[in-house]
Amino acid sequence: MAWKIPLSDIAMDGEEVDAVRDVLQSRWLSMGPVTEEFEAAFARYLGAEHAFAVSNGTAALHIAHAVLGIGSGDEVITPSLTFVATANSVLYCGARPVFADIAGPDDLNVAWEEIAAKITPETRAITVVHYGGYPCDMQPILDLARDHDLRVVEDAAHAVGATYRGQKCGTIGDVGCFSFFANKNLATGEGGMVVTDDDDLAERIRVMRSHGMTTLTWDRHRGHGYSYDVTAIGYNYRTSEVASALGIVQLRRLAENNARRKRIAGRYRKLLEGVEGIECPFAGAVDKESSHHIFPVVLSQDLSRAGLQEALKEKGIQTSIHYPPIHLFTYYRGLFGDTRGSLPKTEFAGEHEMTLPLYPGMTDDEVEYVCTAIAGAAPGILAGGRGAA
Ligand SMILES: *Cc1c(COP(=O)(O)O)cnc(C)c1O
Repeated sequence: MAWKIPLSDIAMDGEEVDAVRDVLQSRWLSMGPVTEEFEAAFARYLGAEHAFAVSNGTAALHIAHAVLGIGSGDEVITPSLTFVATANSVLYCGARPVFADIAGPDDLNVAWEEIAAKITPETRAITVVHYGGYPCDMQPILDLARDHDLRVVEDAAHAVGATYRGQKCGTIGDVGCFSFFANKNLATGEGGMVVTDDDDLAERIRVMRSHGMTTLTWDRHRGHGYSYDVTAIGYNYRTSEVASALGIVQLRRLAENNARRKRIAGRYRKLLEGVEGIECPFAGAVDKESSHHIFPVVLSQDLSRAGLQEALKEKGIQTSIHYPPIHLFTYYRGLFGDTRGSLPKTEFAGEHEMTLPLYPGMTDDEVEYVCTAIAGAAPGILAGGRGAA
């Protein structure tokens, strides 16, 4: 289907084409000097000591939990209102994700009070997700972690460039994880980054990313040794020079693209103000700067989301849902039992949240078109009434 207004769109031009051509002409495709340059630039941008490029954001999350020593019998507290990879990465380590509820319809981030209620003697870590690029309330979460000797992982897949009290998201906890999937604010098609300030964790991340080996193919190509040792279990979570070349250009443009996203989000808020049944969460966070990865709205209970999504589709507008809660998925119910009702605020958001189109190139007219379509359709679509599904 060719959307008139898609949910997201990449922001790339000739600079990316040139960067990729340079890599092809260099005749070196696997992880090497361009990746090192991307890592250095990314670390500098965040103000992090170490950054390691990996194959995707899920690999970043797996490595983060693994290097923190999380394993069988351990519990990691995470939100359920996130992409399934957040929790899957805990399962990869043999540990159990324990889901904590969100703050509410105005703040879809996991709430520190809900995290506190889930801490047991088995808890080893808290893995937060900065939903939509809106930073979590990190201070009370860091306090909890300190008091209970827990590690903090940040799933910052949405939050590249977002800040909490002036500090970049991804550098606040012990390990930060980023995704450069095709629809993320910084896109390389597939890709990710693991960041930390801890030298020991950094060394473990470096080795785990490439089979637990002590040298890379690139090192040997440069004549730095003929062999290698394997010092730990590792994976092939490397990235490629093509992805890293895209990443360098995308990173240079990130601040400008995030500023455009911010402007569009502000326009949405203004135009949707007073539209009955539509609430825009995350209003008025003072010490936080969002990266505006997505623009979520929460519909009132009497408005059919399916009906509204269908009406917008008829106007060529693509919408989405962030997220179907993880604890309700068939696989997770199989593992942990049917826990429907255990996270009421998450489940409400799972049923009533709708995500509107947002991308740096979106025009004012396009934002207005979406808002006019919503305001026109919403009054006629009542749950159980016309258009309900
Ligand atoms: C995209 C995303 C991931 C996974 O990243 P991939 O690069 O697709 O593996 C993890 N967590 C969240 C919240 C995401 O949005």
